[in-house]
Amino acid sequence: MAATINDRPCSSASSIGDHKPEFLTKIDNQIARINGIFLLAKEDGVVTIGEDRTIRVLLKRDNDQFWPSIVEYLTSVPTAFYFDENTLCIIVGMVNGAVYEFVVSPDLNSLQQKRSWHAHTLQVTGVLMSHSAELIFSCSKDKTIVWHCANTGTKIGSYVIDNLCTTLEFDSDSRICFIGDYNGSIYVLRVVGNSAQLVSKLSAHTAAISSLAWDPVRGQLYSGSTDQLVIMWDIAGQKGSCYELNGHNARISSLVLARNASRLFSIDDVGHLVVWDLKAKRIVAPGWHEKDNCEICDAPFFWNVRVMWDRKTVGVRRHHCRTCGQSVCGNCCNNKTIFPAMGFEKETRICNTCHTKMQQYPEQFDLTPLAIQCELNKGVAAMHLQEELGRLVAVGYDRTIMIWDVRKLL
Ligand SMILES: [Zn+2]
Ligand SMILES: [Zn+2]
Repeated sequence: MAATINDRPCSSASSIGDHKPEFLTKIDNQIARINGIFLLAKEDGVVTIGEDRTIRVLLKRDNDQFWPSIVEYLTSVPTAFYFDENTLCIIVGMVNGAVYEFVVSPDLNSLQQKRSWHAHTLQVTGVLMSHSAELIFSCSKDKTIVWHCANTGTKIGSYVIDNLCTTLEFDSDSRICFIGDYNGSIYVLRVVGNSAQLVSKLSAHTAAISSLAWDPVRGQLYSGSTDQLVIMWDIAGQKGSCYELNGHNARISSLVLARNASRLFSIDDVGHLVVWDLKAKRIVAPGWHEKDNCEICDAPFFWNVRVMWDRKTVGVRRHHCRTCGQSVCGNCCNNKTIFPAMGFEKETRICNTCHTKMQQYPEQFDLTPLAIQCELNKGVAAMHLQEELGRLVAVGYDRTIMIWDVRKLL
């Protein structure tokens, strides 16, 4: 945990505590990299899709070892995955653009293909089914999102965005579809019959969206990106508020939401896990000022040639104070702090004015963490949470499946 600049008693309303996930078991020696995973609630086991073109169901046997009860070979590599344990329906999207729907037998020993579509011309990056809307969605690197009727399998409509689609989420009640793209934008589409209207385009990330999580109760969307940032979008608030959650130093690979406990789990490429308290009151980070001189000492920045010439001085690099947004020179922002209320769980640069204020009025700047940080010690490719069981499954890039007890974090 980062050092705080002021030591003071906790005054935050956060209930996050400092518990860590407890490691339960691992399943190693997987033959190929796993692209998607689901932790079963009714059985001790997992469903996976892998680079070896398989769908596998692994169940724990009497000797405590996990063995496959299903190994289904596909014609192409599965790259996107959806599973509903109640209906036992599996949807997989493939690297070649096809989408397949399977049904697992109730004893989890066999799999039957129900239907398939050549939905896309390039790799499928996201699939999901909405039972209440009776729709199956898929999105792809071919820049399209397609929806089919979940009952008949007929294609209903499609929509093309400007960039490669990377992931998607859907709100059944409002029929809003959220699509992440390769440039860091999130498209908000309202799906009506065979057409979709672009409601909004959320632009704050600076690199590809890697994961989206939608919370229909709070009306909030969470996005994780390869720009290392998690953003909380207040969609229902309709004010366009977005809260930056800074806790990672590597690309975010997966987000999972604990809806009842109001926790968001974010994991990155080096295995750093952050569990965010979504009930905590947060402050929107300020916009960055665009100035040509330091707003504290007035030193010109290096592109401000006229002032540099007039004053016979050398220009300096511009930085931005993360808590007030001022444009400042290096000398005027040589302090770092965490500031959880603004989403900075890792230390960030602040200007000397803010630093002095924080020291003079510590009661106004609560620095109690609003997230738990821990290391899973390996880069994680996919993750799934069974909130009722309090269990998290994560699969590493090294093909190891790890199961954690996270009840104390919920
Ligand atoms: Zn300065
Ligand atoms: Zn400042």
